[in-house]
Amino acid sequence: MGETHNNEALRRESQDAMKEENIKFPEEAHQILGKLGDAGFEAFVVGGCLRDAMLGRPPKDWDVTTSASPEEIQKLFPDSFYENQFGTVGVKTGSKDPGVAVIEVTTFRSDLGYSDKRHPDRIEFAKNIEEDLARRDFTINAMAHDGTRLVDPFAGAKDLEDKVIRAVGEPNKRFSEDALRLMRAVRFATDLGFDIEERTQAAVREHAGLLEMIAKERIADELKKIIMTDHADRGIELLRKQELLRYILPELGEGFGVGQNRHHIYTVWEHNVLALKYAAEQKYSFHARLASLLHDVGKPRTKQGDGPDSTFYGHEAVGGNMAAQMLTRLRFSKDDIEKVALLVRNHMFQSDPDKVTPAGVRRLVARAGQENITELLQVREADRIGSGVPKARPYRLRYFMFLVEKVQTEPTSRKQMAINGDEVMEILDIKPGPRVGAIIDALFEEVLDDPSRNTKEYLINKMQELNKFSDEELSELRRKAQEKYRAVLEEEEAEIKAKYYVR
Ligand code: ATP
Ligand code: MG
Repeated sequence: MGETHNNEALRRESQDAMKEENIKFPEEAHQILGKLGDAGFEAFVVGGCLRDAMLGRPPKDWDVTTSASPEEIQKLFPDSFYENQFGTVGVKTGSKDPGVAVIEVTTFRSDLGYSDKRHPDRIEFAKNIEEDLARRDFTINAMAHDGTRLVDPFAGAKDLEDKVIRAVGEPNKRFSEDALRLMRAVRFATDLGFDIEERTQAAVREHAGLLEMIAKERIADELKKIIMTDHADRGIELLRKQELLRYILPELGEGFGVGQNRHHIYTVWEHNVLALKYAAEQKYSFHARLASLLHDVGKPRTKQGDGPDSTFYGHEAVGGNMAAQMLTRLRFSKDDIEKVALLVRNHMFQSDPDKVTPAGVRRLVARAGQENITELLQVREADRIGSGVPKARPYRLRYFMFLVEKVQTEPTSRKQMAINGDEVMEILDIKPGPRVGAIIDALFEEVLDDPSRNTKEYLINKMQELNKFSDEELSELRRKAQEKYRAVLEEEEAEIKAKYYVR
C-alpha cells in the first residue's frame, strides 16, 4: 500500500519536473516506465519521440529503452510480442490511440559492424544507457528521459536549442558505419528547419558515394519523407549541396545552371525546385509534389538554341520517360511511377481560363484520365507559380474543374445522344432515309448548343416539332447543323495548332 502511494507521488513529482522542461509523455509511456522501475530496471523514453516531445511536436510513436532483457520485458508485460531479432518488444497498452497503442520497448544495445552499410551485422546488449545513446546517429536523437531526469551525454538539448544536426562522436566514422545516416541528416535538417553542423556536413560530402551501397528502397523512403516535409524545396537544395543528389536523382541535377528562354527568369533547376516549394506549401499529395519537382526534368536534354530564343520541344514526353526511369531505379511502386510519369508527361495543357476550351478539356480528360485531373492541375499551378508569377489564383483550378465536369456530361458524338435513329423512326413512325438523318443531325445541334437538352423527354418533343418541316426545310436545317459541328471540330484543331506553332 505504502509502496503504491510512493510510486504515485514519484510519478506526480516526475510529471511536475517534466512540466518545467515542457516535456509531456502520454500516460501509457509513464505506466511502462513505472512498471519497469518498480521491478528494479532502468527505463527511459528515448530517441526521436523524446526529441519531438522536447520540441513540442507530437511524436509519431513512442520508444522506451531499458536495462531489462527481452525475456524480462515480456514477463512484465504479458500482452506483448517479440517483434524481431533486435531486442525490441512491442508492448500493447490497450489504448485506441494508434500513436500509443503499441510502445516499443528495447533492451539497451550497442550496434557493432555494418557490412551492408545499413543493418548492424549483429547486435550486442549495452551495459548502460550511455552506451546505448552512443550508438545513435545525431545528438538530438541521442537523449533519454526516465520521467524525472534527462540523460544527455552529447549535449543534444543544446543542439536542439541551437537548431543543429550534429553526428554523435566522430562524424566520418558514423557515416561509414551506416550510409543511411547521410539521408537522415538531410531529412532531419529539412523537417526541423535545422542546419547541419560544419564537421558533420563535411563528412556527409566525403561519404556521399556510400549511398550506392545501401538498398534503393531505403533511399526512396527517406526521399519521400523529405518531399513530404513543409520545406521540401530546402531538402532538395541540401541534397545537391551535400553532393548526395547525384546518387539519388542525377537527372534532376542536369538542370542546374541551365538557362531558359525569354519567358523564364529562372534556370531549369531553380524552376523545378520552386515548383516543389509551392506544391509543399499547398500540402499537395506526394505524387503532385514529386511531379512538380520533376515536371521540367526533360528540358536540358531537349533544349535547342541558346538565350531568349531557346526551345524545349517535347520536353514533357522526354521528362515523363526520365521520371519513370528515375523512379524505377529507386524501386518506387508501380503506382507511384506511373502516376508521376503521367503527371509529368501531361503537364503542358492550356489552363488559362481565358484560353481553355471545352475541346481542350475533353482531350486532356481522355489522355490523362478523370482521376488524375486534380493533381495535374496542381502540378500546372506549381509550374506557373514556380515561374515567378506573383500569386496564385485559386479560381483557375475551380474553373477548370467546372469545365471538366461540364464536358463529362456533354455528348461530342451522335452516339452519346439520349436518343438514336431507331427510336426516331419508331416514335415518328417514319421509314429509313434522309429525313431520319436530318432529324438526328438537327437534334445533335440542339444538344451541342446546350448539353442539358440531352434528355429523352426534350428530344422527343423536339423531334415531333421537326417532323412538321418539309423535306427541303429539314435538309437546310441539317446543312446548318453540320456547319456548326464542323466549327466545333475546327476549334479543336485551332487549339492544337496554337499549341504547336504559336506557343
Ligand atoms: P522519425 O520517427 O521521425 O523518422 P526518429 O528519430 O524517431 O525519427 P527512427 O527511425 O524512428 O527515427 O529511429 C528511432 C531512433 O533510433 C532515432 O531517434 C535514433 O536515436 C536511432 N536510430 C534510428 N536509425 C538510426 C541509424 N541509422 N543510426 C543510428 N541511430 C539510429
Ligand atoms: Mg521514430
